[in-house]
Amino acid sequence: MENCLFCKIIAGEIPSQKVYEDNRVYAFRDINPAAKYHVLVVPKEHIESVNDITAENADTISHIFLVIKKLAEAAGIAEHGYRVVNNCGEDGGQSVNHLHFHILGGEKLKTQL
Ligand code: AMP
Ligand code: ZN
Repeated sequence: MENCLFCKIIAGEIPSQKVYEDNRVYAFRDINPAAKYHVLVVPKEHIESVNDITAENADTISHIFLVIKKLAEAAGIAEHGYRVVNNCGEDGGQSVNHLHFHILGGEKLKTQL
C-alpha cells in the first residue's frame, strides 16, 4: 500500500535489519528497541490492524504466531520467556497502521497490565 512505512520496508524501499522472511511474513529489528531482543513480525499483505483480521486472512495470522515461536527459539529466548505485543488503533497506541506483533525479550521485562 502506498505511503505505508512497513509496506516500503517489505518492498526493500526503506532499509531494515531483516531477521526472517517467507512468502507471507517479514520480520525485522525494531529501530527503537524497548528490550535487548525487539523484533517486529508483520504480514506481507497490508492488513491495517487486528480490526481487519478476517476469516480469509486468519491463516496468515496463525502462521505469524508459528514464526514468532520459531524466532524466539532461534534467538535462545524461548525457555526464559518473552512478550508478544500488538497495539491496535489510536487508543491502543498503534503508530504504524500495518499490523505488527512486537517480540520483546532477552531480559526480565517490567510487569505490565
Ligand atoms: P506501534 O507503536 O505498536 O505501532 O509500533 C511501531 C514500532 O515501529 C515502534 O516500536 C517503532 O520503534 C518501530 N519503527 C518505526 N519505524 C521503524 C523502522 N523504520 N524500522 C524499524 N522499526 C521501526
Ligand atoms: Zn502496509
